[in-house]
Amino acid sequence: MVIIRSLVGNFSLIRPSLLGRNHCTVMSRRLHANRTVGVDKNVWVEFTQLAADYKAVNLGQGFPDFSPPQFVQDAFCKAVSGGPSMHQYTRAFGHPRLVKSLAKFFSRVVGHEIDAFEDILVTVGAYQALFCAFQALIDDGDEVIIVEPFFDCYQPMVLMAGGNAVYVPLRPKEGSAVLSSGDWVLSAEELSSKITPRTKAIVINTPNNPLGKVYQMEELQMIADLCLKHDLLCFSDEVYEWLTYDGAKHVKIASLPGMWERTITVGSAGKTFSATGWKVGWAISSGHIIKHMKIVHQNSVYHCATAAQEAVASGFEREYELFGTPESYFQQLPAVLHHKRQKLASCLQRVGLQPVMPEGGYFMITDISSVKVDLNDESTKDESYDFRFVKWLITEKGLATIPVSAFFSPEHSKEFDKYIRFCFVKEDSTLDAAEDILKKWSQKK
Ligand code: PMP
Ligand code: GLN
Repeated sequence: MVIIRSLVGNFSLIRPSLLGRNHCTVMSRRLHANRTVGVDKNVWVEFTQLAADYKAVNLGQGFPDFSPPQFVQDAFCKAVSGGPSMHQYTRAFGHPRLVKSLAKFFSRVVGHEIDAFEDILVTVGAYQALFCAFQALIDDGDEVIIVEPFFDCYQPMVLMAGGNAVYVPLRPKEGSAVLSSGDWVLSAEELSSKITPRTKAIVINTPNNPLGKVYQMEELQMIADLCLKHDLLCFSDEVYEWLTYDGAKHVKIASLPGMWERTITVGSAGKTFSATGWKVGWAISSGHIIKHMKIVHQNSVYHCATAAQEAVASGFEREYELFGTPESYFQQLPAVLHHKRQKLASCLQRVGLQPVMPEGGYFMITDISSVKVDLNDESTKDESYDFRFVKWLITEKGLATIPVSAFFSPEHSKEFDKYIRFCFVKEDSTLDAAEDILKKWSQKK
């Protein structure tokens, strides 16, 4: 009783203000680890919240606002009602049915016999595949070349692994109108000039987020030649691999001669089956690379949700059978998106914005330098132009997009802060709502 009274007494001493979010633990030494320094800003956290706060029409964060195809939804329901094992742990490095279906499917695509148990690691989304790759393969002081614009998490992941990020931008071709993502090119001279004895890896993303560029065979061969010449790894983020338009062809760099042994190919069921919330991803590479990534995985996440993996496995089994036919989701989704891409591009053109037409993925960027708005918000005055513009668009017009300089290094972001990114993997009604906002605004100007 005495003990209980003294406990109650102690609890009553804890004032609500101390439990509040700003309560700081007092430690005689620094609380946070070094690896958390300089990586605190996150464009998704910031802009997804802002879009939600303002109930904006959301062409910002990249996720479909429609359901995944019925066959994977059914597979998920079947998995969940499929007995006890579907609710328990499965194999750490990937549910057996999933790694077998991925191996069967991608062996045909890469043209290399993939071992289901050695060459694949199933992860919590492509994010965790990338994280495992950087943690397992990058050491203190290693240099990692990142081609810009890049999916923003590569940079903090390199830093958290102790590496140094070195950047090479894709640049809009000079002298002609930049109408397509294919007009953004990588200079072989610039890329090779960045390679030093400390360089460990080159990171590419094709189809690229945010630009939509689909690397051509010659460009991939140039990168592969440098990887072979300088003994480098290639991290190839291919989460949008099925989404290409107008005959652009996605090529896996791992399929080029000599590249299987040094490429880590990253994929995402979220993008593949329009189910970003399932967070199933994978890394595929030679077993001698994957075995190191498995160590990071087994000591951090261990495995991802069993039922979600079962459903994704079922999806790949179906797609294996239907590959190349009109019934394949990998044909149907790009066909739907082709229409949405056109719809968004026409909408932007109608209000005087010139889109850079993406050859792949589900994002479109546009130059906003011709748009005159009064960005008089003092609270954002130290931020880059595109960040201020997007905040204004959300808060004043109710339309969410993403600032493109978030996909560039601090060194180059100023050069590219005149672009914003629109996501078009959205219901036509959402795209119509965005068009209404843009039209009303342009009529007022
Ligand atoms: N890479 C790229 C290029 C992306 O756009 C994303 C966002 N989906 C990811 C990786 C992360 O994918 P996931 O949602 O599967 O973690
Ligand atoms: N990949 C998605 C995008 O580019 C979402 C990323 C995220 O929310 N972290 O919009």
